[in-house]
Amino acid sequence: MLNYKLGLDFALEQDKKDTLSSYRNQFHIPKDKDGYDCIYMTGNSLGLQPKQTKAYVNQELEDWATLGVEGHFDAKNPWLNYHESLGEQMAKVVGAKPIEVVVMNTLTANLHFLMVSFYQPTKTRYKILMEADAFPSDKYAVESQLRHHGFDDKEGLILWRPRKGEELANYNDIEAILETQGNEIALVMIGAVNYYTGRYFDLKRITQLAHNRGCMVGFDCAHGAGNVALNLHNSGADFAAWCTYKYLNAGPGSIAGCFVHERHAYNKKLNRFTGWWSHNKETRFKMRDEFDQLAGAEGWQLSNPPILSMAAIKASLAIFNEVGMDTLIEKSKKLTGYLEFLLKDLGEDTIKIITPSNLEERGCQLSIAVKNADKSLHNKLTDAGVISDWREPNVIRCAPVPLYNSFQDVYYLVERLKSILNE
Ligand SMILES: *Cc1c(COP(=O)(O)O)cnc(C)c1O
Repeated sequence: MLNYKLGLDFALEQDKKDTLSSYRNQFHIPKDKDGYDCIYMTGNSLGLQPKQTKAYVNQELEDWATLGVEGHFDAKNPWLNYHESLGEQMAKVVGAKPIEVVVMNTLTANLHFLMVSFYQPTKTRYKILMEADAFPSDKYAVESQLRHHGFDDKEGLILWRPRKGEELANYNDIEAILETQGNEIALVMIGAVNYYTGRYFDLKRITQLAHNRGCMVGFDCAHGAGNVALNLHNSGADFAAWCTYKYLNAGPGSIAGCFVHERHAYNKKLNRFTGWWSHNKETRFKMRDEFDQLAGAEGWQLSNPPILSMAAIKASLAIFNEVGMDTLIEKSKKLTGYLEFLLKDLGEDTIKIITPSNLEERGCQLSIAVKNADKSLHNKLTDAGVISDWREPNVIRCAPVPLYNSFQDVYYLVERLKSILNE
């Protein structure tokens, strides 16, 4: 790894060496109250807008204006199979085969639709295992699935908790839960990168442990997609879902991604909710009575998709595919390592980084517990032009995003934090 040094010169030198530094100019960077670029550290919450997004969306608005319904076939990018190229490009980002990925709906909706297929409880095997500090929406979704099937949402939910006094859950404990209660567990659903701690779980290890006990496995990759090398196919997971407005920069509420492992691609017996977009493409518009299941992840679609939202995803994925996840992650590790180095220099009495220091166990986000801090710290940071994220009681989450954040951003983030703490 890099031999990090204190001082602005080091940051400037790294930015000069950075082969991805020009990509920053491809994004709109919000301005602070004095008109300077903000230090934007919340790409884990809402990614910034690529400048080319407007042209992609305008193309579809224009084709709609000039072609009307014929745009389904005659648009520059015909709407009929618009989602297919997205699926292929998205598959590269998450390490999956094209048949395993589709872009559709929104994240929580996808989790529900996938649970229709992969949470098939019986009287004796009905429980769901998830991490204790899962994103609230995932927890609510899972609880409602339990209730929907007539189970008690407290009794049916098993939480994988960190041990007393620890921030991160121990793999030995999930192993023990699966060993002792595995035959009661129908589904294991975990956030691939935990939104709070920034910890990237070992997806393959969790999948193997769960599969050995006969449980289905799904991952919420909201904080993983576009951030870490998910290798979803190799993980062996049964399903996964993620949103596209965080690291994937496709705009607020943009539609989501969804993965179904190849081993389920041709299984027509799997229970699922369907619509005309889950039907065989060749005969979809013949409007026949008899349903003919489409193979692969596409077979989970219901509706014809929102092209305007997909245009924004297309604009963003073009950048990801040009750069490639490997190159992106290489920079990400350097950049986040630099943030870690500077934070540690503030002293362990002031700051504790919750996120693992092992590079294989995290993406770009660091979750920083600041001793004796309250929300006024976050407000002061915002006043100083730093956009970060605050979690009670005392945690700042910062995600230097390799596509548009610089070493200089990281330097000034820590400088401003330091001067606020010294006040
Ligand atoms: C961001 C996020 C969500 C948000 O769900 P939406 O359906 O997109 O509103 C859900 N789960 C996790 C883990 C997230 O990080």
